This record gives sequence, C-alpha cells and structure tokens, in this order.
Amino acid sequence: MTAPQGYLLKVEGLTVSFDGFKAVNDLSFYVEPNECRVIIGPNGAGKTTVLDLICGRTKATDGSVKFREKELLTMREDQIVHAGVGRKFQTPSVYEDLTVFENLEISYPKGYSVFGALAFRRDAVVQERIQEIAEMIFLEDMLSEKAAFLSHGQKQWLEIGMLLIQDPELLMLDEPVAGMSVAERVKTAELLNRIIADRSVIVIEHDMGFVEDIATRVNVLHQGKMLSEGSMAHVKADPKVIEVYLGH
Ligand code: ADP
Ligand code: MG
Repeated sequence: MTAPQGYLLKVEGLTVSFDGFKAVNDLSFYVEPNECRVIIGPNGAGKTTVLDLICGRTKATDGSVKFREKELLTMREDQIVHAGVGRKFQTPSVYEDLTVFENLEISYPKGYSVFGALAFRRDAVVQERIQEIAEMIFLEDMLSEKAAFLSHGQKQWLEIGMLLIQDPELLMLDEPVAGMSVAERVKTAELLNRIIADRSVIVIEHDMGFVEDIATRVNVLHQGKMLSEGSMAHVKADPKVIEVYLGH
C-alpha cells in the first residue's frame, strides 16, 4: 500500500490497551486540510479516547499519529498544542470571573518578545485578533460581559474562540453541541463551516442532524474499531452501521 499524500493528520494502527482491554484497536484514518471529520459511535466506542491519544493525554500502546509528518505519539501534550493541535473537552472550561475579552486575551499565545514601543503595537494586534475571533463566535456584543453570565452555548463558543486565538491547524471538539438549544446548534454548524475555511476539525458528535450539516466525512467507531468510513450518506446506508448503531 502506498502512503497517502497531502494529509494533515495520519492515524495508523492506533491502539491503546487498558489492562488488556483495547479501548482503541488498530485504528487508521487520514484527515485532509479543510476537512470536518466527524467521529460517531455508541457510548464506550472509544471516541473520546481517540482524541485523548492524539492530544497526548493518554499514551498509545501501539501505532502512529503523524501531524504534518511529525510523530505526535512521542510528544508531550504541550508540545502537541505548540505543533498546532487544539483540543476542547466536553465541559466548557472558561474563566467565569473574567470577561469574554479577558478570556480571549489570556488565551493569546505567549512566547512573543515585548520590547518597549513594540508592546504598544502588539496590544493593537491582540485587540484586533480578539475582535475578529469574537465576531466569529457570535460574541462581539458580549466582550465586556463576565463569562459567568453567558449561556451554556455561549460558553462553548467562547472556549472554541480561546482555542482559535492560538491558531491551531487542527481543532478537536468533543460533543460541542451537547446541551445547546436548536438555535445554538444551527449557529455552531455555521461556526464550524467557517473554521474549516482555513483549518481542519475533528468532532465527536451524537446529533445526526448536526452531523449532516457539518461533516466532510464520518468515521463510525464500534468497540474501538472502525466500523465504517465515508460520507454521511455512505455510512448511513452501510448495513453494519444500521445494525450496531443507527438501528438502536
Ligand atoms: P466514548 O467516548 O466513545 O463514549 P471512551 O473513549 O470514553 O468512549 O471510552 C471507551 C472505553 O474505554 C470505555 O469502555 C471506557 O470505560 C474505557 N476507558 C477510557 N479511558 C480509560 C482509562 N483511562 N482507563 C481504563 N479504561 C478506560
Ligand atoms: Mg466520549
């Protein structure tokens, strides 16, 4: 088999064993630039564990995860973030006592050098970037509001904004629309479609209507393995998927 070319992320033979139980078992998939890949599957299928493995939170037992040809499995979590992979967990973790602006500001990447007058210029750059992100996440009118006063959905968007301001090339989101209103789900689909204009996204999701609105391709996971992969239309028509998952 020839190695696939032009992929942002290559996952090959990814396996993790927890005391002999393979939560993720010989999983391979490839994510292209500007793709929204959705991972679906029953509870306990291994979806969250896949994201944990890619972001370095859980150490793999076997396999390879290459991001822009760099092997992630030997890197620490912070190095993986630095390489351009952002991860959002299921529950929003914003700083409730800080404003929307401040939440975005503290998420702006550190490590720049600040010398005298340049600091002033940098502030302008950061301000502009915060404004741009706030518009993207539908919070431009809430910048001076404390995060505590945001709705659950708005907090989820803010956390996505806190990742976007770090400019990741790959963004991973675990059930971002859980607990959101219908209107918020529609806007989140719009947000994801905006995000993939210049980066790739991997999303774990249960809401099939939402998946249809956002997915470039879908991976169906079952007992740690890839049950089916392809367009939403393809996996929906796959008898294996209907039997173990959509049929329920
Ligand atoms: P999903 O997100 O698809 O619902 P998970 O990835 O959270 O599933 O879990 C897959 C399986 O792996 C489950 O049976 C879960 O109990 C198990 N699991 C996940 N993390 C660990 C861990 N750190 N130690 C032991 N078992 C784990
Ligand atoms: Mg999960």
